[in-house]
Amino acid sequence: MSGLYSQEHQIFRGSVRKFLEKEVLPNIDDWERDHDFPSEIFKKMGEQGFLGVLVDEEWGGVGGDYVLASAWCEEFARVPSVGFTTGVNMHSVVVTAALNRLGTTAAKEKWLERAVNGDAIGAYAFTEPGAGSDLASLRTRAVRDGDHFILNGSKTFITNGARADYVLMLTKTDPDAGFGGFTTFVVDCSDPGFKVARKLDKLGWHASDTAELVIEDVKVHESQRLGEIGKGWYYTMESLNWERMMLTLNSLGGAEACLEQTVQYVNEREVFGRTVGSFDNSRKLLASLWSRLRAGKAYCHEIIARINDGEPCVTETALVKQLVCELAIEIADRCLQLHGGYGYTTEFRPERWLRDLRLNTIGGGTSEVMAQVAAKQIGLY
Ligand SMILES: Cc1cc2nc3c(=O)[nH]c(=O)nc-3n(C[C@H](O)[C@H](O)[C@H](O)COP(=O)(O)OP(=O)(O)OC[C@H]3O[C@@H](n4cnc5c(N)ncnc54)[C@H](O)[C@@H]3O)c2cc1C
Repeated sequence: MSGLYSQEHQIFRGSVRKFLEKEVLPNIDDWERDHDFPSEIFKKMGEQGFLGVLVDEEWGGVGGDYVLASAWCEEFARVPSVGFTTGVNMHSVVVTAALNRLGTTAAKEKWLERAVNGDAIGAYAFTEPGAGSDLASLRTRAVRDGDHFILNGSKTFITNGARADYVLMLTKTDPDAGFGGFTTFVVDCSDPGFKVARKLDKLGWHASDTAELVIEDVKVHESQRLGEIGKGWYYTMESLNWERMMLTLNSLGGAEACLEQTVQYVNEREVFGRTVGSFDNSRKLLASLWSRLRAGKAYCHEIIARINDGEPCVTETALVKQLVCELAIEIADRCLQLHGGYGYTTEFRPERWLRDLRLNTIGGGTSEVMAQVAAKQIGLY
């Protein structure tokens, strides 16, 4: 048993597994094929309390901590569709959790209970066509107009962007104020001027929608925001840090599932009259991948425990994201190789794991940017 998780956490993981076996796994290949999943699954998850793990009880949530959220993410990540799992998790453990932590009372009253029930789906929009890694150069503007702000700009690569009912949108309220000039608004997607420009076709993450958004004179009441005006940059960094952990746990759970399935495969597949798993090179490779993943998991769990104790852990999060997300790609690739030609087909899991896990060294901050975040802290000039 992991040192991070108590018996209650393991029981919780068991109940998640049961739900997934009944409601998700029988449908997941269809959802991947359809490049979509039904919004009703959000409602079913809401009924189980899975969407409110990090939301206070007064808003209908579970009031759990980061360890519980981590147990959720790790178990959920075993579903072979990273598009589906991150689509749900961006809504629940990232967007809805940020709204719970930082939203004004007015914003919470409008969205939070509906988000926890699965009646209103959320997205987080930082990235723009000209501002990804260099997020501070974003151009979406929010200009005060009485007790409203008028928003103009565009966002891209937004997970749940097409299905969202509300979007946490990072804007510049004062372009001359540097990092003190950003504000995040809670934008109602049904407001005039909010448009989904297009859904993007992708290598993987097929079940989730990734959209480009255009915002033209969208009028948002000043009360519909996260925290204080001008402090959006700092809230964004806080949310991004946790999003990075979510993606790391996602890679961890996915790679673990992929490895387990591969061990089963090589134990059954026979060539030259013996199983693939009996070859020396297969055994050394699988043992090495397994031990490195275990080490990554221990590192990950240590950081979750520290975040749960209130430490920001920005450097450590960057380091562990880079480590685990890159390792997960290597694991999916090596597992595919161990399946031979079958591994290259869509009938076996590694090809999807490889396509899906590939994204996690890009989304939420690339591995190169993670290295930059960590560099100064580890003593590099
Ligand atoms: C499927 C998908 C889902 C996403 N979901 C969301 C979402 O929900 N919300 C959201 O806001 N964004 C989302 N993103 C955007 C994602 O966070 C960005 O793609 C990511 O931050 C990288 O930005 P970029 O794509 O503009 O790449 P760029 O910034 O253009 O980077 C290009 C290359 O330059 C490298 N690079 C950049 N800066 C440095 C540096 N200082 N040193 C060394 N190398 C550097 C990068 O590592 C990369 O290899 C999503 C992206 C995808 C593909």
